[in-house]
Amino acid sequence: MRLSNAFIPTQKETPAEATIPSHQLMIRAGLMRQLTAGVYSFLPLGFRSMLKAIQIVREEMNAIGGQEFLLPALNPESLWVQSGRRNIPNFILSIRERDLVLAPTHEEVIAQIAGMHIQSYKDLPQIWYQIQTKFRNEPRPRSGVLRGRQFIMKDSYTLDTSFENLDKGYDKHAEAYRKIFARCGLKFFIVGAYSGAMGGTGSQEFMVESASGEDTVVLCEKCGYAANLEVAKSTVGNVARVPDVKSLAEIHTPNVHTIDELAEFLKMDRKWLAKSLVYEHNSKPILILMCGNDQLNEAKLGTALAGGEFRAMPAEELSRMTGADAGSIGPIGLKGFRIIADKRLEGANNLISGANRNDYHISNIDMQRDVKVDGYFDLRTVESAEACSSCGSPLKITNAIELGHIFKLGTKYSDALNVTYLDENGQAKPVVMGSYGIGIERIIACAIEQNNDKDGIVWNKALAPYLVHLTAINMNNKEIVQTSDKLYQLLTEAGLEVLFDDRGNVSPGFKFKDADLLGMPVHVIVGEKGLKNNQVEIKVRRTGVRTMVPIDDLISTVKKLLTD
Ligand code: ATP
Ligand code: MG
Repeated sequence: MRLSNAFIPTQKETPAEATIPSHQLMIRAGLMRQLTAGVYSFLPLGFRSMLKAIQIVREEMNAIGGQEFLLPALNPESLWVQSGRRNIPNFILSIRERDLVLAPTHEEVIAQIAGMHIQSYKDLPQIWYQIQTKFRNEPRPRSGVLRGRQFIMKDSYTLDTSFENLDKGYDKHAEAYRKIFARCGLKFFIVGAYSGAMGGTGSQEFMVESASGEDTVVLCEKCGYAANLEVAKSTVGNVARVPDVKSLAEIHTPNVHTIDELAEFLKMDRKWLAKSLVYEHNSKPILILMCGNDQLNEAKLGTALAGGEFRAMPAEELSRMTGADAGSIGPIGLKGFRIIADKRLEGANNLISGANRNDYHISNIDMQRDVKVDGYFDLRTVESAEACSSCGSPLKITNAIELGHIFKLGTKYSDALNVTYLDENGQAKPVVMGSYGIGIERIIACAIEQNNDKDGIVWNKALAPYLVHLTAINMNNKEIVQTSDKLYQLLTEAGLEVLFDDRGNVSPGFKFKDADLLGMPVHVIVGEKGLKNNQVEIKVRRTGVRTMVPIDDLISTVKKLLTD
């Protein structure tokens, strides 16, 4: 491609709304432009990289026996009502006029097709995939294409006769994902994950460590344990029972609203203070007791509640129901609430919690004697340097970007949409499903997050829009024009994709800046000095190393650099 004809709108300024390197560079290098919040147009250069990522994904999906579909983005709303996912918060965008929704993922459509055509165990297993646009009602699209309202996903689905066979399809995907991300040149790791809106029996995420990431993960550098904070197991011990059993007593605690204020007021260790949080689960109130200042993890809460919708109860509703403010709620005398608690509180006594009356708390609460608890769960958020649940070493907490997610769905969608097969004995059984996603834009953005410097993008050869950037330093010099034209042709014929900066009236300094910003792996520079010795200069973008090479050796040298 000749730059004089190309549409590659580079810009020097960093746009104010772009706060992370990939977002800034994707705009500055002319890869994409925002249309509206969370919606991006990919420009030709950006789309070339995207197609390369898509090709790698497609090859690896085909290699595990995947069959490619193209499913519609427009879905009947009724299908999502049937699966029970119509009202998941921040998930589905809808088109009111026609009772249609824009699909955020495709388990439902896959299940619908399988339900029509899978008849017997002989039709299974299947691996079905597509690479297609998804829509999500993201409340706060941000970080450029990392969190869009519209994005391209590779989504695949396994259909199997049993959970054992599901494991096989799942493992094949895990292996294919490793290959895909390695081929894309990404440094990644795998964590145990929360299954969220997908449901199912287990899932893992493929993560890229990055300060720009919205996920928080827990890593053990000693044994390799890695988990999303949403599922990281807490190992902090239970609050011990004290032998001295006392009766409940009310204590006056004026102007005390938080656990910290209460600990200070009573001069007590926080672990004896039971924090009460009020939620609604399927519109019914639920009290959650946490130990001291432990932070409730909503994903863990979602797992404990095993489905349904939940949300923190708004303050006004809470005081209307209980007559007290959030800081004064507690389990004693609270009517009409289901109560669950963090497992640290199991068996504890001597606890203090709110009295359901402003400015009062109750002491000597015994979880066994005084509170009807519906279940103890691991609900707390793990903190940095706590002990690893596998080996006891201190855990590291870091930010990460989720590139891909693989789920063992089980029979959730087969049950909801009645997808069955006949087994060897002619008995109808639900098809066992798995679901597996990769965000294509996230591959590109992560590649840029991991490969950039102060001058611009540093593409690796797998995803670079072009492999070679060829610069003619001065288009007024006939010899430079002739030689660079010829090299453009030769390099292209050698199968190397070339972006040829043949622009006139652009200074060499400007051309070099653009070449660094665009970041193709190899930069070939045709200038007067070199031509005197029949040489051109090669600059490797990643190392900055420059060498003069004889023109006759150019192709072989470039090829060699691109295989290293
Ligand atoms: P997140 O937790 O980041 O919101 P998710 O868990 O909802 O993502 P999945 O349903 O697992 O996402 O979707 C599969 C993949 O699609 C993700 O691993 C991610 O790479 C990509 N993806 C999901 N949401 C977005 C988005 N809003 N913008 C860009 N890519 C996305
Ligand atoms: Mg996910």
